[in-house]
Amino acid sequence: MLNDVIASDKKYYMNTFGDRLPVSFTHGEGMKLYADNGDIYYDFLGGIAVNAIGHCHPKFKEAMKAQIDKLVHTSSLYYIENQAALAKKLVESTCADKAFFCNSGAEANEGAFKLARMYFYKKGLDKSEIISLDHSFHGRTIATVAATGQEHYQAPYRPFTNGFLQVEPNSFEELEKAVNDKTAAIIVELIQGESGVHPMDVEYAKKVRKLCDDKGIIMIVDEVQTGMGRCGRLFAHELYGVEPDIFTCAKALGGGVPIGAVCAKAEVAAAFEPGDHGTTFGGNPLATAAGLAVFDVIETEGLVENSAKMGKLFKDKLEFVQAKHPDKIVDVRGEGLLIGIELKPEIASVVFKKLHEKKMLTSLCKGLTIRVAPALNITENEIDLFVEKLNETMEEI
Ligand SMILES: *Cc1c(COP(=O)(O)O)cnc(C)c1O
Repeated sequence: MLNDVIASDKKYYMNTFGDRLPVSFTHGEGMKLYADNGDIYYDFLGGIAVNAIGHCHPKFKEAMKAQIDKLVHTSSLYYIENQAALAKKLVESTCADKAFFCNSGAEANEGAFKLARMYFYKKGLDKSEIISLDHSFHGRTIATVAATGQEHYQAPYRPFTNGFLQVEPNSFEELEKAVNDKTAAIIVELIQGESGVHPMDVEYAKKVRKLCDDKGIIMIVDEVQTGMGRCGRLFAHELYGVEPDIFTCAKALGGGVPIGAVCAKAEVAAAFEPGDHGTTFGGNPLATAAGLAVFDVIETEGLVENSAKMGKLFKDKLEFVQAKHPDKIVDVRGEGLLIGIELKPEIASVVFKKLHEKKMLTSLCKGLTIRVAPALNITENEIDLFVEKLNETMEEI
């Protein structure tokens, strides 16, 4: 069965993902994923920080089935009850005043760039440059690749749309030097996920906020990976004590149904007037029903609190393993349930493979750091299982 899937994939699917891990899942429940050969895996990656309430949560399944029975799509020509309700939820739970829905993280960041530029355009100001950070990840569209501070993602796709530049993270001096009269926005991931879970310094984040205030620049926080309780608060900017003018959200928002959001303060959001921006699928009845179901589970089951509590416990236990194997584990970092375990370069890919063989799903960032981003309703027993397997791996290599 798996061999047929692999053969078809190799023949018909573009080779963007190369040799994937040789497994295909048929169903899931909570932290567990069932492979087509009967093997059971534990999903410590959560579909790359997407499955925040685990796989096939009963309330989520019920909400999705009910919505499919009623309506999937209408269009933005008409009012959409779920869309209005999810926007209300996002606004009432955060520092934002308005939300806009799209279909992915990249699209949310594109929307944020457009909103920032429109804000200054409407003011009659020539401010269009967008500064981002090295080692960042903002998506795969041309503009978001232009903002993604990683040469290997950028090199083949030049020339980009103008007005994007990158500076070294956590170096406020460099940022100050890069800012000029044309700067429209600064976009940051407060914890850089894709490049291996690298948190910004709190002081740096606060200085960026102040610089933006002083110079009339829009601060965008990319919360595509860090949002929806992932880092122990609903959004990571709450941890940092900074309120962005715009933040974007996607991965966990729909629990696996594609949806992204651009959230903004009233004054900035007002720059978008009828016709300025739009979408066909964004925020349709099905996607926003998914968002509402995810929100409901996160709230009723106290999952933001659980993320903070279990995240701390997880990190403590990982640090204990690190203390036993300081020659192998270089660093354990992250907030809430977004944790990176940096390994010595020569063993990293072996550790990743061994964890996979032990049925622990993770990802390996930059060939160096094991990233875990499990469901926010993870239990201590599940954490212990991972820690045991990691410890075992450390002793085997
Ligand atoms: C995943 C990710 C994106 C891109 O999201 P897509 O849904 O894949 O377009 C953007 N920013 C960050 C921080 C991400 O982690």
